[in-house]
Amino acid sequence: MSYSRRDFLRMSSFLALATALPTRSLFSKSRVLTPENFTEIRRNVGYFTGRGGTIGWMVNREGAVAVDSQFPDSASDCLRGLEQLIAGQVSGMDASPRTQPEQSAQITDLMVDVLFNTHHHGDHTGGNGTFRPQTERIVAHSNVPDLQRRQAQMRGGEDENTYADTTFDESWSVAIGDETINARHYGPAHTGGDSVIHFEQANVVHMGDLVFNGVYPFIDQGGGANITNWITLLETVAQNHEADTRYIFGHGNPARGITGSREDVLAKRDYLAALMDHVMISLQAGMSLEETRSITSLPGFEDFVSFGPRLSLAANLEAAWNELSAQ
Ligand SMILES: [Zn+2]
Repeated sequence: MSYSRRDFLRMSSFLALATALPTRSLFSKSRVLTPENFTEIRRNVGYFTGRGGTIGWMVNREGAVAVDSQFPDSASDCLRGLEQLIAGQVSGMDASPRTQPEQSAQITDLMVDVLFNTHHHGDHTGGNGTFRPQTERIVAHSNVPDLQRRQAQMRGGEDENTYADTTFDESWSVAIGDETINARHYGPAHTGGDSVIHFEQANVVHMGDLVFNGVYPFIDQGGGANITNWITLLETVAQNHEADTRYIFGHGNPARGITGSREDVLAKRDYLAALMDHVMISLQAGMSLEETRSITSLPGFEDFVSFGPRLSLAANLEAAWNELSAQ
C-alpha cells in the first residue's frame, strides 16, 4: 500500500470527531451504523442499493472493499456511506485523535483498498471513475476491459470507461484485516467475463448478474454469454459454498429481493435448464423461433418478472435458440 493504513485510520478518527460524523461501531450490534441504503449482512459485509447493480461492501479495521460501482451519482453516495462506516470502525477501535489535521491532509485520498467489477456492464462499472481517485486497485476478470471497450465502441462517442488496473484469468485473492476476499471466474455465463466474489470469513458471496433473482436475466450473447456453462456454474457455486452462505445478487424482483440463499442460486439454474429444455424440444419438433417464443411463462417460473425487452422470456428463449442452433 502506498500509505499507512494506521495513519489513515487515525486520520479518520480525527475527522469523525471533528465533523461529528456518526461514530457508532459496526462491532456493537446494539448501535449498528447504517448509512442510507446500506445494509449489513454479517461480519462487516453488506450491500448498498442505489441505481443499477447491487454494490457489495466490506469495511473492517484494516480496510475497505467494494464490489461493483453502479453509476457516477450513486457511486458518490456509496463512497460517502463507506466513509461513515470507516469512521464508525475507527471510533469503535480508538476514539482519541492522535494525528494532527495538517499531517492527515496527504492521506485522505485513498479509502477503498479494492473495487471489484463482477463484469463489464455499465450499471456495474459506470461508477469506476468516481471510485478511482479514492481507490487503490480496481480488479476484474481479464476479459472485462475489452468487453467494456467494445461496448463503448458500439455506443459511439467518447470512451468514458475507467478500467481495471489489475486483471486475472482464474482467481485472485486479497487479505484485509481478518477477512479474505476471493474473486473467481467460472467461464462464460451472463457475459464472457463474470466473477464470483467470496468474502470467506463472513461467508457471503456476491454473484453479480449471475443471478437476477426472480427476474428474466439479460443473456449478453454479444458479450460472450453462454447459457450451458451458466447452468454448470450455478451448480458449482452452490456446491463450493456452505449451506448457510448468504448471496448478494445484481438484481432481484421486489418480492424475492437482492440477497438470498443457495435455493435462489439453484432456482436460477433450474430456470436456465428449463429454458434450454423448452427450446431443445421445440427444435427437435421442427418449430419456428416465432412459435418457440410464443409462450408467456415457463412452468414453475410463472412469478418471474421482466425488467424490459432484453430481460424478458422472449429474449431469453431467442438466446437459448441461438446457442442451441449454433451447436
Ligand atoms: Zn449485467
